[in-house]
Amino acid sequence: MTDRRGLLEIADGVFVYLQADGGWGWSNSGLLTGDWSSLLIDTLFDLRLTGQMLDDISAVTSGRPIDMLINTHADGDHCYGNELLVNQGATVVTSDAAAAEMKTVPPSVLEALLTHDMGELANRYVEEAFGCFQFEGIEVPDPDRTFSGELQLEVGGRTVELIEVGPAHSAGDTVVYLPDASTVFCGDILFVDETPVIWEGSIENWISACDRILGLGCEIIVPGHGPVTDEIGVLMVRDYLVFVESEARKSFEVGQTVEEAIDGIDLGPYKEWREWERIVPNVFAVYRELAKEACGEIPRHPHNVFPAMAELKYGT
Ligand SMILES: [Zn+2]
Repeated sequence: MTDRRGLLEIADGVFVYLQADGGWGWSNSGLLTGDWSSLLIDTLFDLRLTGQMLDDISAVTSGRPIDMLINTHADGDHCYGNELLVNQGATVVTSDAAAAEMKTVPPSVLEALLTHDMGELANRYVEEAFGCFQFEGIEVPDPDRTFSGELQLEVGGRTVELIEVGPAHSAGDTVVYLPDASTVFCGDILFVDETPVIWEGSIENWISACDRILGLGCEIIVPGHGPVTDEIGVLMVRDYLVFVESEARKSFEVGQTVEEAIDGIDLGPYKEWREWERIVPNVFAVYRELAKEACGEIPRHPHNVFPAMAELKYGT
C-alpha cells in the first residue's frame, strides 16, 4: 500500500493521482496512457483542484492528449471538474444511472449546504468537510456516452472494461478494469482507511460489488479515496459492510428505531476509520432495504443526514 500524494505510476502507463488524506471530497483520479491518447478516470471536486491536477500530469499526457474521461459515479468529488476536460475536447463516458444522478446533485446543492443554517454542530461539520472547496460557477456538462451493464473501450491501443456494479455507494457506480495492467479503479465502491458511505444502493449489492472486484484477480486495486491497495483493502470494506448489515438487521428484528440501532452499535475497530459517523446513513440504508422486504413502512430519511452525523461525532 502507499499513501503518497500526487501522481504515482502503479503499472506500465497507468497512474493514480492521490489527494491529501482521502477524507470528505478528497478523491483519487486515474490515468491510462496509450500510444497516442490518454484516458482520465474521474475529475476532482472543483475546477481549481482539477486544473492543478491537469498541470501536474501534463508531462505524462504531453503528446497523448486526454480524449476520454470516465466518471465512476455522479458524486461531485468525481465529476465537478468535468468541464475542463470537455473544453479540451474529451468525450465523457459514464453509466446511464450516473448520468441521471448528476442532474440531481449539481454544485449549487453543495453551495446551499454550506450556507444553510442547520444548527451549530451541523454547520461546523459541513464547513470542516466541504468548506475548502469552491463550488461557485461550476457547470457539469451532460456526458456524451452512457451505458448500462458493461462496456468495452479501446484507448490509445489499450483495452478498458467498464463494469457497472451499482446501485451501491451511489445510483450508478462503475468500476474500470484494465486487464493488461492487472489493475482496477473502483471509484467509491472502495474506501481505504475511511468509512464507506451508502447513499443509494442496497448493502447486499455493495457486497456483491466487492466480490465482483475480487473475482477480477487484479494485483493493483485503486480506491476512490485513500491509498492504493490490493485484495486486502476490498476484504476490509466487505467485512465492514457485512458487520453493519448484521448489526442493523438484529436491531430491526427487535423493533428498534434507526436512531436506537445507531446508538446501540459498538463500532469496535471501525471507529478508528475516518468518518466513522457515516454509520448514520449506512444503518438507514439497511433499514430501508429490510422495510421493503417486510413490506413495512419505509423509515423516513432524515431531511439531512449531516446534523445526525455531526451530533454523533461531536456529541461523543
Ligand atoms: Zn468520492
